[in-house]
Amino acid sequence: MTTVVTDAPTAQAGAMTTEAEARLHLAAVYRLLAHYGMDDTIFTHASARVPGEADTFLINPYGLLFNEITPSSLVKMSYDGELRGPSNYPANMAGYVIHSAVLQARPEVGCAVHTHTRAGVALSCLEEGLLPLNQFALEFYGNVGYHDYEGVALDLDEQARLGRDLAGHPVLILRNHGLLTVGHTPAAAFYLMYYLEQSARVQMDVLATGRPFRLPPDAVARHTAGQFSTSADRTKTGQRLWPAMLRLLDETQPGWRN
Ligand SMILES: [Zn+2]
Repeated sequence: MTTVVTDAPTAQAGAMTTEAEARLHLAAVYRLLAHYGMDDTIFTHASARVPGEADTFLINPYGLLFNEITPSSLVKMSYDGELRGPSNYPANMAGYVIHSAVLQARPEVGCAVHTHTRAGVALSCLEEGLLPLNQFALEFYGNVGYHDYEGVALDLDEQARLGRDLAGHPVLILRNHGLLTVGHTPAAAFYLMYYLEQSARVQMDVLATGRPFRLPPDAVARHTAGQFSTSADRTKTGQRLWPAMLRLLDETQPGWRN
């Protein structure tokens, strides 16, 4: 008997073909950021395009904790900064500046996630940035953008430089500030942020020991990076993980789908 092992991911897990799907999967991103301790009270933000609408995106209602966010509470905005539809909360101006810049600069991107975690901010302060120290970090080898700090992102002027620095990368380290990931879907952007966060935590732990550390050879680092879907086919990033993440939310955060 022959056993066929397939590496095919779950079909279209986390796909966004309707606004309802975009709202559901983006709300899941917020809930998961809270679940894994990657939130920052009501601050920071994640966004998703609205399928079928060229000029709008979804972002968090400014004032809700991430574990309070539901699909229906997400705010719809235009790239001109106008709120579309009723909401009891405004949008975060820095969130608008960052996410409208990223989504306009990268037409293939469906979702962007930004965090201010302790490890992520610490990593963003290091001159050398993300080191290829371990398997978590090697997924991003040669694929990291860096954006110099300019103050709280309230100036529209900064948008062009954010787009330039993100270029073709899936992740952007906002120096002295935090982390940002982009993906075709919320599943992809979350997956990348989860493992970028793990990379940051391990790097800061290693550096805190003060002990000498060993980096893999460049050829091994390149080979490893190529083994991840982040390099091979970015449209599939995070798909295998996503159904499990939704099950986790259904079990631990009843009502999150409202
Ligand atoms: Zn920020």
